[in-house]
Amino acid sequence: MRSFPKNPEYLIRFDDVCPTMRWSVWDGIEQVLIANDIRPILAVVPDNHDPKLYQEPADPRFWDRVREWKARGWTIGLHGYQHRYVTEERGLIGCNRYSEFAGLPYVEQHRKLSAGIEILDREGVHPDLWVAPGHTFDGHTLQALRSLGIPTVSDGFGFVPQWDADGTFWIPQQLGRFHHMPFGFWTVCIHIDELVPADVAAFAESVQGFRRFFTNVPAVQARYEKNRSHRVNEVWAKALCWSKRMRYSGGRSPALEPMRND
Ligand SMILES: [Zn+2]
Repeated sequence: MRSFPKNPEYLIRFDDVCPTMRWSVWDGIEQVLIANDIRPILAVVPDNHDPKLYQEPADPRFWDRVREWKARGWTIGLHGYQHRYVTEERGLIGCNRYSEFAGLPYVEQHRKLSAGIEILDREGVHPDLWVAPGHTFDGHTLQALRSLGIPTVSDGFGFVPQWDADGTFWIPQQLGRFHHMPFGFWTVCIHIDELVPADVAAFAESVQGFRRFFTNVPAVQARYEKNRSHRVNEVWAKALCWSKRMRYSGGRSPALEPMRND
C-alpha cells in the first residue's frame, strides 16, 4: 500500500558544505542539531571551485568533521563536483537556467560524478544521495548516478517520496524555511552562508516548534520504499513548480519560499 503522511513530516537539508563554509554560524547550528537529535542531509561539495562559497578560512579538520557527521547517522549528499556552472540548461526541475551537469554528454557527466564520488570515498564518507547544484540536472545525470550506485535524489516538488519508472528514488525538496503545514512531506533547505551568528537562536526556536515532526533519510527510505510514481504526485509537483516560477516573475503564489540559486 502507498504510504502517505497524515501528519506533516520535515527533513532538514544544509547545502554548500565545504572547507570554506561559514563555520561561525555552522558551529552553533550543529550544536542545536545534536541537542535535538536531528539527523539532517548535508550536501557536500567534493572539490569546491566556486568563489561564492569561500566564506571563511578553510577548516583543516574538514574531512574529520564530515566523518563525524556520517558516524552520527547524518546523511551525506553529493553536491555536484566543483560547484561550477558550465551550461545554461534548466534540466528536469526547470527553476534555474544554469548547471554544472544538465546538457552535458553522458560520458562527461559520468566522469564528473565519478570524480566527486572518488573524493568522498577516499575520505571514507560515501555519499548517500544526490543534491544538484542549482537544482539543475537531467536524465543523463540520473542515469550516471544509478550506474554509480546512487539512485536517491533530494529534489523536486513531489508530494511524497517515491520511485520513478527508471529506478530513481525522489525525496522532494520544497521549502526554503520552516512553514507550518497541516500534512505532507517537506524538506527544508537551508544555506548556511545566508545566516549570521544571531540566527542560530531563531533556528533553535524553529526546531523546538517542529521537533515532533522531524524525520531522517533512513526512516524516509524505509517508510516510502514501496511508493511508485503516481499521477497525483506529478500534478502536485507541476503546480508547485509553476507557483515558484510565478513568484520569480513577480506573480502571486502560495506561501512557499523560492529556492535559492545554488
Ligand atoms: Zn550549492
